[in-house]
Order: sequence, then structure tokens, then C-alpha cells
Amino acid sequence: MKAMLLKAANVPLVLETVPDPVPGPGEAVAKVLACGAGLTVHHARAGRLSIQYPRILGHEITGEIVATGPGVTELKTGDPVTAYFYLTCGHCYWCRTNRETLCDNFGGYVGRETDGGYAEYIKLPARNFMKLPPGLDWRGQPAEVGVICDAIATPVKVIRRARVTPSDTVAVFGAGGGLGVHMLMIARWARARQVIAVDAMASKFETCLKAGADAAVNAAEGKVAEQLLELTGGKGIDVAIDFVCTAGTLEAAGRALGKGGRLVVLGGHGQPFRVDAGNTLRKEIEIMGSRYATRQEVLDSLDLVARGEVWPLVTEKVPFEQAEAIHQRLDAGLITGRAALVMI
Ligand SMILES: [Zn+2]
Repeated sequence: MKAMLLKAANVPLVLETVPDPVPGPGEAVAKVLACGAGLTVHHARAGRLSIQYPRILGHEITGEIVATGPGVTELKTGDPVTAYFYLTCGHCYWCRTNRETLCDNFGGYVGRETDGGYAEYIKLPARNFMKLPPGLDWRGQPAEVGVICDAIATPVKVIRRARVTPSDTVAVFGAGGGLGVHMLMIARWARARQVIAVDAMASKFETCLKAGADAAVNAAEGKVAEQLLELTGGKGIDVAIDFVCTAGTLEAAGRALGKGGRLVVLGGHGQPFRVDAGNTLRKEIEIMGSRYATRQEVLDSLDLVARGEVWPLVTEKVPFEQAEAIHQRLDAGLITGRAALVMI
């Protein structure tokens, strides 16, 4: 099969022919129709993660099952599928209590610890393939359907984790990125009272406003906390969702929170940041991490799109041979919303 290979840390992806994957016991193989290309994938391309080379990246797939290995009963040839991003055990305490992103036997990620979707075919443990519900036009819109399993599912989880209600003001840091735009969309879907986009690139604000933001704050102008306090009449925001997670964004988010505020930490490289303990106590502020989504949240997200409640925003679709060009644009922060590779 043809595949885009990453052969070393931070080198261009190259098109090569590699052996077709053959499913072993408990595995299945799907033909890939499309695969999302976002920052999570780009961290691997850019060499910021330790992975074994050569590697086929990508996890946000739309595919069609073409072969199943011994013992696989839940999938059959012809089933339309997407992928669950995490390689989890399915039987530990966290897996059994519907918090499987905390799996004690975590095996890594599709497209990092095992080959992903930047290829004609993808082989995964059968339990990592998730059947698409009826009502999704997966043949006609494979790029949009493919990104649901992360770009929609991750925000859906955040809404639940941060308990967003219709009386909440929500600010999204890194709002112009692939997850950020969908976070705005899902916060709007959740009927948040006010949704505020925070981003350092003003060129992305139009898309943010269309996706569901009521207002945009230009982080490049500084004084983000002050701008957020002004937008809320001094009351402060109820939920800050930070996809950037530098000390600067996290501390600004913390200062902008009002009483009962919740700060959700999702991205970045693990920088330490400072919070005021007195302020946290007086306002009963909560700080929480949120990792990806559970399988049920992916299924719920597929269902949301199938019912027409939300629709993923894929702004750039290119033939999969052009993966490297898309990653150059991801690297420069030039992609608003999600990009996707399409098999032709
Ligand atoms: Zn587990």
C-alpha cells in the first residue's frame, strides 16, 4: 500500500510503498477514506514526542473494514468505522469505570505507538475501531466524519467535565485551532450564556465568531484577564478552557475566573503555573485536567453529528500525498479549524 512515512524526528513525511497490513488475532484492517491532520498529530511530525520510526501518523479516520483477524466477532467486512485514539486495556479499574483515558495499562496512541491513518490501510486492535451510526454520510463527507472522534469528542468531554450550564460564560484559549473552534461550537451547542474566543491570531476571529463565539479577545494585545473581566462586567468567567497551556495563558485564565470558576487544562507541554491559593479558596475555584474522551463520548459525538446538531469544521482537504504541505501549515499556525487528508 501507499503510505506517508515519518522516518525520523522532524523530517518531511515521504510517500512510500509498504506491505499491506494483515490482521492478527483480535485485530482488523480498514481501508482509509480520510484522516484528520491536527496539532496533536503535528507534535509527532515535529519530533516533540518519542516514537519509533518509521511511523505512519494520524488517528482521526473514516474507514471501511476490509479484513478481520481470528477471534474478531464485533466487526465485519464493509462496516464503516472511525478510530478510538487511545490504546487502552479494557479491563482495569479506570477502563471499567468509564474513565478509560486514565487506563493503568495505557498502551499509547493510534498513529504513535501503532501505525495510523496516513496510508491506504490501517490495522488496529478490533476494539479501537468504532462503527459509525446510520445517518452519517461517511462516503460523501469522509473528512468531516473522520475528525469527529477527536475534534468533537474532546470538546464534548470538556463540557461534561466542567459541568457547563446555560448560565455559564465560557472562554476558550487557543480558540482558532482545530480543537478550539470545535470547543466554541460545542459550548454554543451546550447553550452557554456567553462564549468568548481567545487567540493570538486575529485572522482567525471571523471563523471563531461563525463557529459560535459571541466575542473575541486578541491575546496578542496582552491584558487578556482584564479584557475578559471587562467583557463580563467585572464578574469574571465561569469556565476557562485552555488548549495552549503556557504559564501565561493559564495564569491569565485563572485571574479571569469568577466565583465558582473552573479552569480546564488540555494542551501544552506541562509548564508549571502559579495560582493564588487565597483567590482559589475565596471563589471556590476548581482546576481540572481533561484527557481526550471515553469511547461512549466518541459514540455520543458521532450521534450528535448524525442527528445534525453540530457539523465539524474542516477548512482544508488535500490528497493524502500532500500531508507534508499541511503539516508545514500546521507548524506555522496557519490552519483555522481542522485540516484533513483525503484518499482519492
Ligand atoms: Zn485499562
